[in-house]
Amino acid sequence: MSKALVLAESRDGNLRNVSFEAIAAANLVADEVVVALIGQNVAADASQLAARGAHQVLVVEDERLQHYTPDGYGQVFMQLIERVAPDVIVFGHTSLGKDLSPKIAAKLQAGLISDVTSIEGTGTEASFIRPIYSGKAFEKVKVSEGKILFTVRPNNIEPLAEGASEGTVESVTVELKDLRTIVSEVVRKATGGVDLSEAKVIVAGGRGVKSADGFAPLQELADLLGGAVGASRGACDADYCDYALQIGQTGKVVTPDLYIACGISGAIQHLAGMSNAKVIVAINKDPEANIFSVADYGIVGDLFDVVPLLTAEFKKM
Ligand code: FAD
Repeated sequence: MSKALVLAESRDGNLRNVSFEAIAAANLVADEVVVALIGQNVAADASQLAARGAHQVLVVEDERLQHYTPDGYGQVFMQLIERVAPDVIVFGHTSLGKDLSPKIAAKLQAGLISDVTSIEGTGTEASFIRPIYSGKAFEKVKVSEGKILFTVRPNNIEPLAEGASEGTVESVTVELKDLRTIVSEVVRKATGGVDLSEAKVIVAGGRGVKSADGFAPLQELADLLGGAVGASRGACDADYCDYALQIGQTGKVVTPDLYIACGISGAIQHLAGMSNAKVIVAINKDPEANIFSVADYGIVGDLFDVVPLLTAEFKKM
């Protein structure tokens, strides 16, 4: 019987949706799924994980683990690996997962399949699909020996429904020694309520937005649709918005249900971060703009006319 260990992520008291997606992915590959929930005051979230595909949730709480550090989380996770002895280890492809997973893989002398968007087959026969060459192609990876470690890209694998499992919850004490870093406080820039990498709807602006104020109609539309605002690097470089909003090869990779690109030309580096969105709407004055090559719906027009019209129409619904 194969076992998986999944690292769940909780931020500001909320479980990140990618945790449920990682659990669903683990259930495709292993027979038994154990979930690690690490932090401070996170135990209340364990029952949600236990009901959505986890057979067991191991909760590790310590005030020194309130914020992620590679040192602290690495120590805890390695002790949990020793305890669970998993065949499969799953992380979200988040900034935390991207930081911790290669360190764990190196410690275990195992390979790592990063940024998995889907899984074909089950168990040891499973193949992992991941984008390569900035999303221009996909490769299929199979692991022939040793532990299987992989990260799952948010918004790609369907989470299991509530009631999928009736897992147990156990509080675990681990040893933390010689911690080199402890984060005492995190000061975040205000970038809106919805997490860009997990947003179902993204309204993104490019250099065509022309100024920081030009983002206001995009923000209004995003708020109305319960989504987040994103940006091209062109807009970030021009100082219209913060780099935290940048989408693309050197920014965030997103897979929302709906991506509305406003005044974005569609450079290959931008497409690398958003071309897997389920539905893409492009608004651009230039009918030849490359963004239309990946768009499901294209609107040739001035974004300052089109976006308010869209907002007005959505308000009627
Ligand atoms: P532009 O290319 O200037 O396009 C602006 C568009 O707005 C034009 O198509 C124009 O027709 C349209 N427009 C203007 N006014 C209006 C209006 N009123 N209404 C409607 N349309 C209008 N870019 C990224 O986005 N993300 C990355 O992660 C990224 N990483 C990079 C990494 C490297 C190594 C390099 C070299 C580049 C990277 N870039 C990245 C930059 C990328 O090559 C482009 O320069 C950038 O994406 C262009 O941004 P843009 O589309 O906003 O600007």
